[in-house]
Amino acid sequence: MPVRPRLKPIAVVRRPAEVILVGRAMQLTYLADPDGSVAALLQVLAQGAHPVAGLPAAMRERGFTVTEADMAAAVAALDEVGVLLRADTDAGLDPDTLRRHESNLRFYDLFAGLQRPGAAFHRAMRDADVLLLGAGGMGSGVLQSLVGLGAGRVRLVDFDVVEEKNLSRQFAYGRADVGRAKADAARDWAARYSPGTTAVEAVRERVADADTIRRLGAGASVVVCAIDSPNDVHLLVNEACFELGVPFVTGGLQYSTLFYWSVEPGVSPCRLCLELNRADEGAAQQVEQTVMMSADFVNRATGPVAQLLAGFVALEAGRYLTRTDPPVAAATYHTFDLADAMRMTVEPWPHNPGCPLC
Ligand SMILES: [Zn+2]
Repeated sequence: MPVRPRLKPIAVVRRPAEVILVGRAMQLTYLADPDGSVAALLQVLAQGAHPVAGLPAAMRERGFTVTEADMAAAVAALDEVGVLLRADTDAGLDPDTLRRHESNLRFYDLFAGLQRPGAAFHRAMRDADVLLLGAGGMGSGVLQSLVGLGAGRVRLVDFDVVEEKNLSRQFAYGRADVGRAKADAARDWAARYSPGTTAVEAVRERVADADTIRRLGAGASVVVCAIDSPNDVHLLVNEACFELGVPFVTGGLQYSTLFYWSVEPGVSPCRLCLELNRADEGAAQQVEQTVMMSADFVNRATGPVAQLLAGFVALEAGRYLTRTDPPVAAATYHTFDLADAMRMTVEPWPHNPGCPLC
């Protein structure tokens, strides 16, 4: 069946001899329209009733003579600026899925177009296989987002048990879970919250080396690292993910600064590059320094902090899984400082020529 283009539900402003498409809040497209034919075409496209071949007849009814080639060019140009969908963007999804994932599908519509319907993004999420290391403040929140989005499978690795202090920020657990293994309690939360949506495999294991991550991550579509021990865990995940060819996302809180970043093996510089860059900078400065006092690890993450962090990390994991848009944090440090008016920084790190991995 030929594709029927439909205008996304966006605001369209009409001015003399001009039409403005408000594709997103910050994205305006100005189209010259001296004879009103663009406005007429947008009205036809809002119905989503015709394939391109049917557009000349629909335009004729509105008093405009156009060719099919004109219409094909106009539709391609509108698709290019991201304001068209396929009229059947949800095609192939059953009624239960349409109800359960209504908001997810409408989110995907922001990124969908004539080449890729919204349903394709949902299917990519449904087919996803996520290795989630850690079911603490960030990990349990990421799990909740993944279940909401309808990720197909999550292998959740955690060795801790739920403690009372976790109730300030780990909302997958309740008082009744205190003393239970987090991996089990989180799996049970997912089964209660949305049965049949995400298959959560609970793995009670401590992550101590790259071999463990490699074994647990085999077949994963993305790895989310939500643990902060051992100390060099990011380098271990980096090494394992490079061998597996699987992207990974991580984040955390240091003092009052939230941060997150990701690595896409084969595409972005890796985490080891960042370590080597820092070592090079230190060597270049040639200043002797030793650590006099080291900061003891204190967990200051409150509920809103953990939720923010989990949201940023889950969004980035979602970009890898569905390719709505390119990952924004690949080899790029994103920080938000809670104690500095939420000041935000975005700092990409370059490839290190001496990196043995990438
Ligand atoms: Zn590297």
